Amino acid sequence: MSEPRYRGRFAPSPTGPLHFGSLVTAVASYLEARTRRGEWLIRVEDLDPLREPPEATGQILQSLEAHGLFPDETVRFQSRRHDAYQSAIEQLLANGHAYRCPCSRKELSEHNGRHPRNCRDAPAALADRPCAIRFRLHDEHCHWTDRLLGPQTQIVRAEIDDPVLLRKEGFYAYQLAVVVDDIDQGITDVVRGSDLLDMTAQQLQIYRALGERPPTWLHIPVILNEQGQKLSKQTHAPALDDSRAADNLVDALTALGQQPPASLRSDSVNQILQWACKHWNYQAIHLTAQ
Ligand code: GLU
Repeated sequence: MSEPRYRGRFAPSPTGPLHFGSLVTAVASYLEARTRRGEWLIRVEDLDPLREPPEATGQILQSLEAHGLFPDETVRFQSRRHDAYQSAIEQLLANGHAYRCPCSRKELSEHNGRHPRNCRDAPAALADRPCAIRFRLHDEHCHWTDRLLGPQTQIVRAEIDDPVLLRKEGFYAYQLAVVVDDIDQGITDVVRGSDLLDMTAQQLQIYRALGERPPTWLHIPVILNEQGQKLSKQTHAPALDDSRAADNLVDALTALGQQPPASLRSDSVNQILQWACKHWNYQAIHLTAQ
């Protein structure tokens, strides 16, 4: 069987405008897709309206355009994909890979992560309480290979780590939606920040439960601020200044270990991206890893 064509994506959660850390991830995933003659998609992971200021999605898409990062297909929004997530949940419930869980966070922490109501094994025992849907993990020493970081071993703990797929409040969770959409969009290769590294073993189990082939993963080091914290909304990462797009791109390439010449700063974003495609070497990334 021939290998499917490379398809990659950048999948921001619109909790705020694009910051330098997310630009670095976007550029890395874009360059990997371009240099492997693949397609590059943008997917907005807008699953949680309570954490997403309404203007953030527009700001992110505008910023990506200002930096010359155009996707090969129309942008996908997870807020319009609820039917797909619901049918995946029904499939997982039907083959016993998911279960209804009324336990509160407090109850779980009082029982070291075990489910006091036995919801995992005895659904009939459920009281009439609002339930989340959780994925039923199985115990595993999961071995997989990251394209940049090499062989990984992650310990998956059944029950204690079972991730929520649908929250009690009715919101679909990242762990489910990311897998369902990567499958549906035919994503072959994921490039993302290493803050998501620990999620991968659980995601592999969800792929298996859905009977699908997982992508490869390449996790890039997250960008830290001067206090050593990951750039994010919580750490007050400043929004990117789109009027400095050329400088931002050159800085992102430098953070990715690509050693762009200073003269690139006076070029257009398209010229910078062309230089970057020509010289892209993902193995140089770890040289600047923090
Ligand atoms: N939406 C996630 C984030 O912004 C990224 C998901 C992924 O790349 O798997 O952190």
